[in-house]
Amino acid sequence: MAMLAGVLMQLLAQHNIVAAARSGVSPAALKRSAENRTAALEPARWPRDALTIANLQQLDVILVTHAHMDHLDLNSLKALPKSAVVVACAGCASLIRPLGYSDVRELRWGERTTVNGLTVTAMGANHWGKRWPWGRAYGFNSYVLEKNGRRMLLACDSAMTDIFAPLHKNPPAIAAFSIGAYDPWIWNHADPEQVWRMFVQTGAYYLVPLHWGTFRLSKEPMDEPMRRLIAAAGPESGRIVMRQIGVAWTMPHGAEDAIGIDAAARY
Ligand SMILES: [Zn+2]
Ligand SMILES: [Zn+2]
Repeated sequence: MAMLAGVLMQLLAQHNIVAAARSGVSPAALKRSAENRTAALEPARWPRDALTIANLQQLDVILVTHAHMDHLDLNSLKALPKSAVVVACAGCASLIRPLGYSDVRELRWGERTTVNGLTVTAMGANHWGKRWPWGRAYGFNSYVLEKNGRRMLLACDSAMTDIFAPLHKNPPAIAAFSIGAYDPWIWNHADPEQVWRMFVQTGAYYLVPLHWGTFRLSKEPMDEPMRRLIAAAGPESGRIVMRQIGVAWTMPHGAEDAIGIDAAARY
């Protein structure tokens, strides 16, 4: 029984029961839904939130990669403008529509949708989608975003995989990968060296590291993922952008020419 409880606690910790987890913007106070009975287990967010709702400009699209608590937080979604289109993984609309969103589009791998000229295509990852260890399985999506000939990958949490390598044929300029929560969850979350390899496989030029330094979900020190990622990149580390929470970054003008991506030729 103790062992079972230990396993359960590991699963909960892994998938962030913490969760009740508020990611991104500041949510309203937690409400006493069944899901939030775990609030006592919720750690404080490590840094202050980078943005408030008032800081956000018009929000056209909200992308939900998967239903884990640190990625699909009901209180954060409740606080965001309901005029946004929500693109989500399989099964997640049932969680999101009751919050007041009228346009929720579930995508399965290979499916795409377009919002205001932005095409969103779902693809896979090496991860999983259950919200609770005993509950139903939801989908889990990475997304390729395309607009005006520019492409970006938003990778789902992922363990090491070569699933992103085919993007190399038509590489995105930017790829965003989760880089933390790998100790001991290496079978669900790649470590920084593995992330650098997956990033290189995509052929993308800029890497935006996500999923580190916010909640304590694993054993590695909070600042270790970024340090290891920069070390793994070596002389290419200048391609790692947005290294601090709360900073803004604009891709340099003409960067696609400089990095050999011929956007116009692809469309
Ligand atoms: Zn996850
Ligand atoms: Zn996660």
